[in-house]
Amino acid sequence: MFLLEKAPAKINLTLDVLHKRPDHYHEVEMVMTTIDLADRIELIELQEDIIEIRSENRFVPNDERNLAYRAAKLIKDRYHIKHGVRIYIDKQIPVAAGLAGGSSDAAAVLRGLNRLWSLHISVKELAALGSQIGSDVSFCVYGSTAIARGRGEHITELPAPPSCWVVLAKPEIGVSTQSIYQNLQPNRLIHPDTAGMINAIKDGNYIDVCKKTGNVLESVTLSLYPEVKQIKAQMEKSGADAVLMSGSGPTVFALVQQENRAYRIYNGLRGFCNEVYVVRMLGSSYVG
Ligand code: ATP
Repeated sequence: MFLLEKAPAKINLTLDVLHKRPDHYHEVEMVMTTIDLADRIELIELQEDIIEIRSENRFVPNDERNLAYRAAKLIKDRYHIKHGVRIYIDKQIPVAAGLAGGSSDAAAVLRGLNRLWSLHISVKELAALGSQIGSDVSFCVYGSTAIARGRGEHITELPAPPSCWVVLAKPEIGVSTQSIYQNLQPNRLIHPDTAGMINAIKDGNYIDVCKKTGNVLESVTLSLYPEVKQIKAQMEKSGADAVLMSGSGPTVFALVQQENRAYRIYNGLRGFCNEVYVVRMLGSSYVG
């Protein structure tokens, strides 16, 4: 048996950090949505009781460190599956970019193995399983637009935002999420208007969605990495409706409604950044 599963990237329309918890995790509140930039996951059932990972991307580990491996192991252990699986990851999402590529691969493996082995696990249960792998996996299991709270594992789905183009630019630097959180100064945070964003999405008001974008981590990453600041300024200069960093960065995205404006921003980034993508916002769930 063989099947394919799409693993789309996410962007943060908002990201807020509310406080640090006694367990040392940060309590977050994030509005996230999926975009049409996706890894392609192939699952091939094996008779032998093993999990094999294959990916040609040199930044992606081909062993038990891979989040896709951990997802398969979790399902196999929990449901006492004695078959094995070969997981081939065709990586299209930039790695360590703030786009939840690894989490989305893990979520796709959970959804895919649920189908491959006819386990009939509900989306809610899959999301709960996913939270054991990483904070963004629960959101990625839904693959829609949602507000994520807690560590990111408490998901409330939202309607899809008004459709638009998303231009993404990832500078060639690695950003450690941990170091960004360590540099957060609780009394100097610029909190996004999360409630305002939720209303804008529910009203289908594109202008307000753009106005309400905000990421509390952005000022930290921008102050540490001038490359990210430069890309943001360049996108703003090229006439984007909104420009924001996703996650802890370093990817920055711009929102626009017209395709020609998206390509104007894309062209404006030439010379600044090698990894630039123009994609559609997906926003609605494709999970059955
Ligand atoms: P997030 O937005 O959830 O913080 P990210 O987009 O910043 O995630 P990922 O692309 O998920 O980051 O990769 C983070 C690290 O996880 C990488 O350094 C990589 O070595 C490791 N990793 C494990 N599994 C995967 C995978 N399937 N795809 C990409 N990276 C993976």
